[in-house]
Amino acid sequence: MPQQGLLIVVSGPSGTGKGTICRELLRSNPQLKYSISATTRQPRVGEVDGVNYLFVAKDKFQTMIHNDDLLEWAEVYGNFYGTPRQYVLEQLNNGYDVVLEIDTQGALKVKDKIPEGVYIYIIPPSLDELADRIHKRGTDSLETIKKRLNCAGGELTQAQNYHYIVVNDQVETAVQKIETIITAEKHRADRNSDLISRLCQTNCT
Ligand code: 5GP
Repeated sequence: MPQQGLLIVVSGPSGTGKGTICRELLRSNPQLKYSISATTRQPRVGEVDGVNYLFVAKDKFQTMIHNDDLLEWAEVYGNFYGTPRQYVLEQLNNGYDVVLEIDTQGALKVKDKIPEGVYIYIIPPSLDELADRIHKRGTDSLETIKKRLNCAGGELTQAQNYHYIVVNDQVETAVQKIETIITAEKHRADRNSDLISRLCQTNCT
């Protein structure tokens, strides 16, 4: 049986650049699997169904909840988002590491179910920088931008529920830090007890 893969959960306030970081992380580590979330939000310009998200209608999302198809789900800024359960569990059971980019409510729910995952919180260098990034992104209405900025301060207090904090001052260095975290986590003694017992068996019999 393959060794269980590592679940890597990434969160952070809107506009902090976690999407860009995750994309870059996946591009430079093609062995990592990305969990594509389901959402009732409307696609933004350039977003593709089945690539960025599974864009679904509200009733379809309700059915997914009802059928227990979601590992977690949450309402974020007035839309529903959820992590398809089967994909994530299958990949982990087959030994693949899986990246989830989800909000803090969802991350807490997943942490209850999969505490052995690694939970990483991305923060901006400052709140001014965050506001600047959301405005420059230009993908959201003024009302949405206001909503997201209002939530950002409160969201930052959630950082305490994560194992690691990574400041996104530069995408490249933030990605390197996450790669280092993944490498360290994979070498933890409690994740490698099988290795030790196998070695002992061959040497001690
Ligand atoms: P956006 O609309 O900007 O793509 O995402 C809004 C927020 O929803 C982000 O914080 C993002 O991490 C979060 N999100 C995306 N997918 C999921 C998901 O499957 N579950 C939860 N709980 N949050 C998600």
